[in-house]
Amino acid sequence: MDCVFCGIAAGKIPSKKVYEDETLLAFHDINPEAPVHVLVIPKQHISSLDAVTPENSGFVRAIFEKIPEIARLAGLENGYRVVSNCGPDAAQSVPHLHFHILGGKQLPAHIV
Ligand code: 5GP
Ligand code: ZN
Repeated sequence: MDCVFCGIAAGKIPSKKVYEDETLLAFHDINPEAPVHVLVIPKQHISSLDAVTPENSGFVRAIFEKIPEIARLAGLENGYRVVSNCGPDAAQSVPHLHFHILGGKQLPAHIV
């Protein structure tokens, strides 16, 4: 398995799960950058936002429909930020589409 997030989605690599259903998985980031730092991934391999198409965009829709519940499950009751890094200029380090949910403190107003 050369995609770490496919490995996590398949249960072959352990993760601290927040939410899971047949299409998506939310788990705590191994190297959190905020008091709460959760990653949400489609179980199907999509390499980044650049690879979203009309055929697979249902996974993105499913993720965004679930983010409010995932945020609540993670204890975020005063807001949160959602980020997806796409490609080298954004420093994407895992080439499997994922959305960071960040919160648990007052975040800076700007992210760059
Ligand atoms: P990116 O830099 O691609 O936007 O975000 C990748 C994120 O995945 C990073 O925040 C990194 O800490 C996290 N990450 C990388 N490998 C693992 C892992 O094996 N388990 C978990 N839980 N998070 C990981
Ligand atoms: Zn993958």
